[in-house]
Amino acid sequence: MKLLEDRIRQDGTVLPGNVLKVDNFLNHQIDPQLMDELGAEFARRFQDAGITKILTVESSGIAPAVMAGLHMGVPVIFARKHKSLTLTDNLYTAKVYSYTKQVNNDISIDRRFLNPEEKVLIIDDFLANGQAVQGLLDIAATANIKVAGVGVVIEKRFQKGHKMVADAGIQLEALASIASFEDGQVIFATDK
Ligand code: 5GP
Repeated sequence: MKLLEDRIRQDGTVLPGNVLKVDNFLNHQIDPQLMDELGAEFARRFQDAGITKILTVESSGIAPAVMAGLHMGVPVIFARKHKSLTLTDNLYTAKVYSYTKQVNNDISIDRRFLNPEEKVLIIDDFLANGQAVQGLLDIAATANIKVAGVGVVIEKRFQKGHKMVADAGIQLEALASIASFEDGQVIFATDK
């Protein structure tokens, strides 16, 4: 998606460890207008998939997921990384190793919000090694619900997650696909 690639070129910073910093529009400060466009694009790409709910993980997945939910007319549920007083039992949980924080998190979703007839779209901000998506796929499998697709705002195609989702035969849509980082510059798959 050219609009997103242009924004990454303009505002993204490549950090050591193959991390792209985009905290001025995606995962700290958020550009609502851009999120709206991303949500519309997810809705367009998955319009025939029969999706009934969007599944994401807090916190950076929430903004694009909500905008996609708005454009698709379906609810959004996010997995929590921390237990709360109101989220105590009757949970689906999975373990996720965080790429950027390098810690293990248990992610949880209240069982009331995932019913067997559901067909979900998984959305996240980044796809790197696929741990976050795998955690959500694990929860979907335990809940016995169908996964119609995975949508990520940015994928780093050279890391493991892309192949993992593709090998699982799941429709994967990345709005920006990074082929590599070269000398601190982002090379998109569309540049090749
Ligand atoms: P994965 O689980 O696929 O290895 O990594 C995805 C998660 O790690 C995303 O939810 C995202 O928050 C974080 N992440 C992975 N790579 C990057 C990156 O290059 N930049 C930023 N800002 N976050 C990333």
